[in-house]
Amino acid sequence: MGIFDFLSNKIQDQPQKQSKLKDERKAECPYCRQSLSKVPGVKTKCPHCGEFIFVRTRPKDNARIIVTKDEAGKIDKEWSIVAGVHDNFVAGKKEFAEEKEILRKRFGGKEPSDIDIKWGLLNKQLMEHAQNEDGLHRLQFTR
Ligand SMILES: [Zn+2]
Repeated sequence: MGIFDFLSNKIQDQPQKQSKLKDERKAECPYCRQSLSKVPGVKTKCPHCGEFIFVRTRPKDNARIIVTKDEAGKIDKEWSIVAGVHDNFVAGKKEFAEEKEILRKRFGGKEPSDIDIKWGLLNKQLMEHAQNEDGLHRLQFTR
């Protein structure tokens, strides 16, 4: 499964996310494996070893789990990656839709093909690049 499939599944899943949330928390310390009096709902200190137990949601399957401090840090990082890729994905889609609109007008209302849109976006990037280069040259000339 590609990252985009993964993300679009995630996006589609969002409305039912609450009901589909899996709970894999156990009343067991992730450090010393001793049993706890109850399943932790928030950050809890283990009465046996004194370490802090963290509660996190695993990005890949939305399961609630009990983890160590290190694992919690790793999961936080995974979530920030998911969020970052997701933002880029949405930004890319928006740009694509905008270019489609521009081309549709240019084609007199005719639906542009995906290839036309991709070429349009590529040309736009090349033009922006050329403008930046221009700016650089100008800077050099004024010196
Ligand atoms: Zn413990």
